[in-house]
Amino acid sequence: MTEKLVAAFDVGGTSVKAALLDEELRQLAALREPTARGTDGTATAEAIGDQVARLVAGFDRQVAAVGVVIPGIVDDQAGIARFSANLGWREVPFADLLRRRLDVPVAFGHDVTAGGLAEYRLGAARGFASAVVLPVGTGIAAALLLDGRPYRAGGLAGELGHIDVGHQEKCGCGATGCLEAIASAAAIARRFAARTGRPAAGAEQVVQAARAGDPDAAAVLEEAVHALGRGIHTLTTLLAPEVVVLGGGLFGAGDFVLDPLRHWLSARLTFQRMPELRVAELGDEAGCLGAGLLALEAAG
Ligand SMILES: [Zn+2]
Repeated sequence: MTEKLVAAFDVGGTSVKAALLDEELRQLAALREPTARGTDGTATAEAIGDQVARLVAGFDRQVAAVGVVIPGIVDDQAGIARFSANLGWREVPFADLLRRRLDVPVAFGHDVTAGGLAEYRLGAARGFASAVVLPVGTGIAAALLLDGRPYRAGGLAGELGHIDVGHQEKCGCGATGCLEAIASAAAIARRFAARTGRPAAGAEQVVQAARAGDPDAAAVLEEAVHALGRGIHTLTTLLAPEVVVLGGGLFGAGDFVLDPLRHWLSARLTFQRMPELRVAELGDEAGCLGAGLLALEAAG
């Protein structure tokens, strides 16, 4: 029997990460290109068709399925992108568009959920039954892997960045007090700049400054960590995950950020089980590997 190959695509607002993977998710070829622009999804479907052809060129094989993940609200059952601010899409039936372009099974999903699935099967949450994978990037959304499978609710579940953690900052969603407005990587950099008049390129730079003893950086970081603690407290009370996997540049500092988060949380849990807090293992590759997992499922 010949081993199946799948093509996996992590489509972001600015670039597309693509890989040709075997059944063990070993990467045989890869591409990274700018995202094709267009609000109806056809340009992206065309580009993915071309990229699949280039990925398999030289292998003398066809792919058994294609997996594509994007940011936003994705109904993966219906194969429809309900809303993606980064891509400028609204109600795009992308799975159908791509099936028309490629004559193979197509899996279409959400980047954070797929990345979480990859951490759950292959990375930091491997071996646990219930996990929450929480990448802290420009925004904050959670992948919920509960009792062995992703919980999706038509793409609407897991928006942890928009729970109210009690502060006066405005969020991009229009509400006040959202976790994301104080603890996302973008918010940490913005709040440091607002407090000091010194720009910060990202959350990592604020962490570095805090490590070097900068009291403003330490204060901004502490507020972010406490807000994340509140978010994880709510998650723990509602869903009782055994492990919470944290990703993004903020957690590149490992225990420097995780330890205060553990202390904040464990001091406030009463009857709830303290989840293990771990740093994500798959980094930037999680979305593409997750797309590969979805493609392998579609290939049957
Ligand atoms: Zn919000």
